[in-house]
Amino acid sequence: MGFIGDPDIPQGHIEYKYLLHQWANDPFWIGNINQRIRYLHISGGLPPYRFPRTMIQQFWVAPMHPEARTVWYKVLIQKIPLQKCVSRFRPPTSSLCVLCHQEETIEHFVYSCPLKKTIWDTTLAVNLPLYFLQPVDFCDFILHLRLPPNTTIHSTLFTSCATTIHQIWCAHWKFKLENKPFHEHPIVRMINTRIASIHPPPPHSVVIDY
Ligand SMILES: [Zn+2]
Repeated sequence: MGFIGDPDIPQGHIEYKYLLHQWANDPFWIGNINQRIRYLHISGGLPPYRFPRTMIQQFWVAPMHPEARTVWYKVLIQKIPLQKCVSRFRPPTSSLCVLCHQEETIEHFVYSCPLKKTIWDTTLAVNLPLYFLQPVDFCDFILHLRLPPNTTIHSTLFTSCATTIHQIWCAHWKFKLENKPFHEHPIVRMINTRIASIHPPPPHSVVIDY
């Protein structure tokens, strides 16, 4: 796309017809426009921070419940209403995590809050026993769709992460808005049920009930 200052554009008098012609004929508009615009709308979606292309493609096609995909997308574009943000508009509101009273970042909200980390550990052990990722690598995947080189990617990884993020999100807001207890076991049970509805366990496999 051409912009003012572009060496290809005549300097001095600006010829708007020429600019519009350049803009309308840019290769950007060829092909799947919706998909291109969606990539650009992702925070950090412009170089050099673009999500790995194959990963973002898998994110959109991997089997997961629509509401789970929506919540994970909010995480990826960093549109989570953290306490720090809420406290700016409601000064008496604490900027700390409502569950553990530590500083709340996106990483803390989604993964590293001690009450949520135990849920992740259990969910991963049950649904992704073959993934031996360090917590820092796993967090990188959840927040930025990045994985260490040579990591085998299976659709169960996307399904499990989306489902866990969604159920943690639901339990978090039920605790905050409705005072419903944030207990690990019912949350993990719901996560496993919803993952199994997409990826049924093989027959004769051992089902761990929580
Ligand atoms: Zn916390």
